[in-house]
Amino acid sequence: MSPWAIGAGNGEEAGLELFRRSGRSRPGKGEAPGPRSGPETGEGEGYGKKIRCAACGSGVTSRDRKTERGGSHEHSFFNPVGLVFVIGCFTDCPGCAVLAPRSTEFTWFPGHAWQLALCRACLEHLGWRYVSPDGDSFFGLILDRLVERD
Ligand SMILES: [Zn+2]
Repeated sequence: MSPWAIGAGNGEEAGLELFRRSGRSRPGKGEAPGPRSGPETGEGEGYGKKIRCAACGSGVTSRDRKTERGGSHEHSFFNPVGLVFVIGCFTDCPGCAVLAPRSTEFTWFPGHAWQLALCRACLEHLGWRYVSPDGDSFFGLILDRLVERD
């Protein structure tokens, strides 16, 4: 059984991810080739190695959900007050709460509006969700606010 089929209470979305991922022909740099089959993590969430909120340790997303935009998973950007952010792109982040208002001001990904993405558990600002009018959406999360730990 695919680990994607038993999601964290969002079976429909997990199915969609599987569909999208199947169109990707090559694994990202430094990733294992393909998801591990049936990891018995004992946590009841059937996806790969977890990526957690560094502030509270709550699960945010997983390595399987890393994706690329513009040919790279990682991007460095300056915000309007000159702070640098190193962000990583993810297809989906079940552990993020997304704030509703969308903005295209200072967007780092042309054509995409952004929304703030917070840790669901502690409300730490973890990054942004990007949405384009043609339906593309992904998360850009600030990498130094995350830890990879199962
Ligand atoms: Zn948190």
